Amino acid sequence: METKRVLKKGVIKYGVITIIAILFIIFVIALIMYYTSDKYKLTKLGYSKEEAIEIVTIGKSNRVLNIRYSEVMLDILKGKYYIDNNLEKYLDYYDANKDKSIDDIIAIINVHAEEEFYNIELETDTSKGIEMIVNKVYGLDKEYVPEDIVNVSNWYAYGEQKVSEEVYEQYKLMFNAAKKENLTLIINDSYRSYEEQEKTHKRYGDDYAARPGHSEHNTGLAVDIIGPTSTGDTFEDSSEYQWLQEHAHEYGFILRYPKDKEYLTGYEYESWHYRYLGVELATKVHDSGITYDEYYAYYLDNK
Ligand SMILES: [Zn+2]
Repeated sequence: METKRVLKKGVIKYGVITIIAILFIIFVIALIMYYTSDKYKLTKLGYSKEEAIEIVTIGKSNRVLNIRYSEVMLDILKGKYYIDNNLEKYLDYYDANKDKSIDDIIAIINVHAEEEFYNIELETDTSKGIEMIVNKVYGLDKEYVPEDIVNVSNWYAYGEQKVSEEVYEQYKLMFNAAKKENLTLIINDSYRSYEEQEKTHKRYGDDYAARPGHSEHNTGLAVDIIGPTSTGDTFEDSSEYQWLQEHAHEYGFILRYPKDKEYLTGYEYESWHYRYLGVELATKVHDSGITYDEYYAYYLDNK
C-alpha cells in the first residue's frame, strides 16, 4: 500500500511538470511567432496594427518590409492603377509632391511623366502594331516606316493625305455613319514621315511640334479631323466633334489628347486629333476614361 501511494504521488508530480513544460514551450513558441511575424515587423516600421493587418491581408508585407515607412503606403497599394514595380518611385515622387493626389502620382509615374518630357526617352515596341504607343517618352526609330500607307481620296480629306490601310477602311465606315446624320468629317492632317517631322520640328521647336519619331502622325495611325465649317480651333464647338465624342470608338478611334491631361500626354487638349487603336481597344480605352498613355502603361506594358 505504502509503495503504491508513493508511486501515485510520483506520477502526479511528473504529470504536472510535463504540463507546465508543455505550456511554457507553447508560450515561448507563440512569443517567437509574434515577434517574427510580418504584422509585428510592420508595426515596428511605423504602421498601426490595423494598417499592418491590411498590408498582410493584401499580400504586400514582404514588399513593404523591404522598403520603408510611408504615410501613404496603403493608399498607393490600393490605387486602381498601381503597378508593383513602380512602388519606390511612387513613394519618392509623393515625398517631393505632397500636394498631388495619389491617383495622379500613380498616373504620372506609370506614364514616365515625372520628369520634363523628352528627358526620359524609350524606344517604342512596334511589334505591338496598332496598339503601339508613341508620345514624348516612347519614340519610333529613324528607320521605322509603316508598311501599309495608302492615299486618302479627296472625298474624305483636304489636300494630300495618307494613312495606314486599316485606318482608312475604318475611317470610311465612320465617315459614312456621320454622313447619315448630315455631318462631314474631313481629314486635315495624317501620316507624316520621320524626315517631314524632323523638318517641322526644326522649324517650330518643342513648343509647337513633336520631335521626329515622337509624333503619332509618324505611325500612320493618327488623323486630324475638322468639319466643313470649322477649323482646328473651332472644331470643339462643331456637331462633328459632338458626334465623334459618342461614336469615334465604335470605329476604332479615340480622342488622344483630352482636356486637362497635358501633364500625362505631353499635349494640350486637341479636339481634332484622333488615334486609331482598333474597335476593341478603342472601346476599352474610351470606357476606362483614362488617357491612352495611362491605359498602355497599366494594361499593355505591365509585366
Ligand atoms: Zn494631330
